[in-house]
Amino acid sequence: MRGEMLRTILTAGLCVSAGCLLAANVTADDIAARARKLHFLSIVVDTHDDTTQRFLDGKFDLGPRDANGSIDIPRMKEGGLGAIFFSIWMPSKVTGPEAVKRALVQIDAVREQGRKHPGDLVLATTAEEVRAAHKQGKIAALMGVEGGHMIASDLAVLRSYAALGVRYMTLTHSGNDEWADSSTDTPAHNGLTDFGKDVVREMNRLGVMVDISHVSDKTFYDALEVSKAPLFASHSSCRALCDAPRNMTDEMIKALAAKGGVIQINYHVGFLSQEFRKASTPEIAKQLDEDVKKRCGDEQGCQLIEGDKLTREFVAQGKLPRVDWTKIIEHIDHAVKIAGADHVGLGSDFDGANMPFGMEDASKLPQITEALLRKGYSEGDIKKILGENTLRVMTEIERVSRELNSATRQ
Ligand SMILES: [Zn+2]
Repeated sequence: MRGEMLRTILTAGLCVSAGCLLAANVTADDIAARARKLHFLSIVVDTHDDTTQRFLDGKFDLGPRDANGSIDIPRMKEGGLGAIFFSIWMPSKVTGPEAVKRALVQIDAVREQGRKHPGDLVLATTAEEVRAAHKQGKIAALMGVEGGHMIASDLAVLRSYAALGVRYMTLTHSGNDEWADSSTDTPAHNGLTDFGKDVVREMNRLGVMVDISHVSDKTFYDALEVSKAPLFASHSSCRALCDAPRNMTDEMIKALAAKGGVIQINYHVGFLSQEFRKASTPEIAKQLDEDVKKRCGDEQGCQLIEGDKLTREFVAQGKLPRVDWTKIIEHIDHAVKIAGADHVGLGSDFDGANMPFGMEDASKLPQITEALLRKGYSEGDIKKILGENTLRVMTEIERVSRELNSATRQ
C-alpha cells in the first residue's frame, strides 16, 4: 500500500509540467490513431465463424445489425473484417447421406447470403479474390467444412464440396470420423487411416486447406507427414496456456510452422483460460446444457447464441470466472514466441462458442491491433497476424494444387 502511494507520488512528481502531461496524452492518442489506421488498411481475416447455423433457423439475415450473436454486416464493417470463413458444421454423430444433405443446405445458405448482399459481400475461394474484395470495400465470404464426417467416406463428395467453393476441411469435429481420430474422443484409428491419408492427398490436389483443429495429436502428426501443402488450424489456441486437448502443444505449433502453416487463435473462453476450464465442472456443463435446451429446443443456431449468453449469466452469478479479451492477446503472443509472427492468425469461433468479455462481436476486433501495437509488435507483423499469414498459406496451397494437377495430367 505504502509502496503504491510512493509510486503515485513519484509518477505525479515526474509529470508536473504541462508539457509532460501533453506528451503523455499525445503518445497515447498517437498509438490509438496508428492502430486504427493500420487495422483498417489491413486485410483482417477470421477463419472460423459458426454463423451459418443461424441462417438455418430461417430468421437470421446478415444485412441488418442484430441484437444477438457476433456477426452481421454492420458489425463486420465496424470491426474492419475483410474476410470471413463460414463454417459448415453439424455434430459428428450425423453421418452418411444425411450429413451430405445437411452440408449442402448450409453451403447453399452461405451462398444465398452472398447473393442477397452483393454490395457488401462477395463469395471468394482464393487469396487473390480476397484481396480483390478488399480493394472494392467488400467483405469476402469463404467456407470451411468442420468435420470429415460430412464427406461420408467418399472422395467424390469432397470434390463436390470443393467445386461449390469450400476451401478448408477440418479432418474431424469433436468425435472420431470413419478415417481420423478426434482430440476429444477415444482413439480408434491411431491417427489417420489409409483412406484418411488419401483424403489429405486429395485435399492437397483440390486446393482445400487441411485443417487440423479438433484432431488428435496423432492425427495431426500423420497429416503433417502426408500433406504436401502447409497445414492450417482454423480455430485452435495454445495448450501451454490452457490445457484443452484440442488446443495445440508448443511442439505441434513449432512443427506446423516448420512446414509453413499457421495457427489461428480461438477466442472461446474454455480454450483461452485454464481457470475457466477448471471451473467448468460436469455439473455446471449439465446445468448450462439443460438451460440452453429450455430456451432453444433442438435449434442449433439458437443453442450456440444462447450458450454464450447463459455463460455470461453464470459469470454474473459467480458460478464461472470472468475471462477478458486480453487473454486472446496472451495466446497470440505465446504462439508468436514459439513459432514466430509468420505463423499466427485469428479464428474467432464467433457465434459458436463463449466469447470473453470485451470481444462480444466483430466490431471489437480493432482492439487486437491496438493491443499488439502497444505490446511493441511491428506494423508488418501485426498485418501478418491479422490476415496476411492466412493469405500466404492460401496462396501456397493454391500453388501446390496447381503443381499436383499438372503432375496428374502428364
Ligand atoms: Zn470447432
